[in-house]
Amino acid sequence: MKTIGLIGGMSWESSQVYYELINKKAGEILGGFHSAKSIMVSVDFDEIEKLQHDDDWDELNKIMVQSAQQLEKAGADFIVLCTNTMHLCSEEIKKNTSIPFLHIAEATTKKILEKKIDTVALLGTKFTMEKDFYKTILSDYGIEVIIPEIDDREIIHNVIYQELVHGIINDGSREEYKRIIKTLQERGAEGVILGCTEIPLLIRQNDVEIPVFDTTEIHAFSAVEYALE
Ligand code: GLU
Repeated sequence: MKTIGLIGGMSWESSQVYYELINKKAGEILGGFHSAKSIMVSVDFDEIEKLQHDDDWDELNKIMVQSAQQLEKAGADFIVLCTNTMHLCSEEIKKNTSIPFLHIAEATTKKILEKKIDTVALLGTKFTMEKDFYKTILSDYGIEVIIPEIDDREIIHNVIYQELVHGIINDGSREEYKRIIKTLQERGAEGVILGCTEIPLLIRQNDVEIPVFDTTEIHAFSAVEYALE
């Protein structure tokens, strides 16, 4: 079994879900007393959140590379970055480490292709919805990506930073998300990517008519599969 290297803390609310999912999955596959071998480097999200909103991606690249190198030195066999947004730093991480990097958008793309879905909605932070780093991976595989209109992007983003990363689950926000997803469905989305690792704390498959792609679960399970290959 390979040792999974997790970069967590962005936020810890979703990192704990990763930890639970990878161990449950390893137990399910291997049975008995089995759990996953893992190492986590967990950052201080206050520092990360400020740098994100200051658009200081140079500094964020440095912190992510440093965390990945810590994992490599500690004996991790590959890297799992437990957030969609911070995959903006994935190229720098790959350049500055020598162990494999399991990309969250690539793992998600595989699942979308399996379902033969051509047009998908993407929900996440404004960084994930508006910048190209995430959407390009999907479109390289021929998947069309649609994102909410600007006012709805603002709502999605604010709920993540003001509620979900603090562990606040609000029924009103869930209704807003459902309304936004419905609008995206009417615009042609055949599925929706929960492209922020905290969104699955709020929205589940039962809340939505179209298939939901839970990036936390997809990424965590693909880490276990890779660890056991
Ligand atoms: N965990 C979130 C994501 O998947 C947002 C928090 C962050 O900025 O890392 O994008």
